[in-house]
Amino acid sequence: MLVLGSGTSHGVPMIGCDCATCRSTDERDNRSRASIFITLEGGTSILVDTSPDLRAQALAHGMKRVDAILYTHSHVDHVLGLDEVRRFNWLQRESIPCYGDERTLGDLRRIFAYAFDDKASKGGGIPRVALFPLSGEFSIAGATFTPVPLLHGDRQIFGYRLGSFAYLTDCSAIPDRSWPLLGGVKTIILDALRDRPHPTHFSVSEALDVVKRLAPERAFFTHMCHDLPHAATCARLPEGVELAYDGLAFEIEIG
Ligand SMILES: [Zn+2]
Ligand SMILES: [Zn+2]
Ligand SMILES: [Zn+2]
Repeated sequence: MLVLGSGTSHGVPMIGCDCATCRSTDERDNRSRASIFITLEGGTSILVDTSPDLRAQALAHGMKRVDAILYTHSHVDHVLGLDEVRRFNWLQRESIPCYGDERTLGDLRRIFAYAFDDKASKGGGIPRVALFPLSGEFSIAGATFTPVPLLHGDRQIFGYRLGSFAYLTDCSAIPDRSWPLLGGVKTIILDALRDRPHPTHFSVSEALDVVKRLAPERAFFTHMCHDLPHAATCARLPEGVELAYDGLAFEIEIG
């Protein structure tokens, strides 16, 4: 499991900001837009979201293939990199299955209309993807993914559980029916935008309440803005809770 991006929609540093975090020389304060990359034992590689930074992320980490894409939701910081998939189409000589809820897939068809229009000019190529609407658990190369409904403001979006790991970005509440889907998770990545409350993202203290209730062995926060400098924030978090950072990698149990 590799964190490709751990930043909020603006990324950190933010354009035109001279704050200490945006000027930090700590690489962990350099946050591209939120996405993770999961490589299964047999080499099957699964990308969660296609951030606007996907090209840079793929180059930074030597990504050579993407066998499937899981979408959490269709906000632009999670989808705009879809066009970069053209390189993987070329390398793999095939279209790539994408999973998401109906609203997300509809938004992909609208935002990337040229990719779904048979009459559009193909100069330079188009991203070739096959869209699969979420309907409960599904398997990719023998690994079972459970979509976990989350609330992102009043919009329902999805996190994903894989074995004892869960990725819950962009959420401000976990609905009652989703808690049982998260029972026994050992490692989570969870949204924590900043300290101040926000209508569509958990604050640090709200995220800590979720950590307390789920009691995972390890929790990593993601989708942070520049209010949370890496080192100083980690120093005040309880044991077992850290901020994720771009390039963070760890093993997960999927059995
Ligand atoms: Zn986001
Ligand atoms: Zn800043
Ligand atoms: Zn969002």
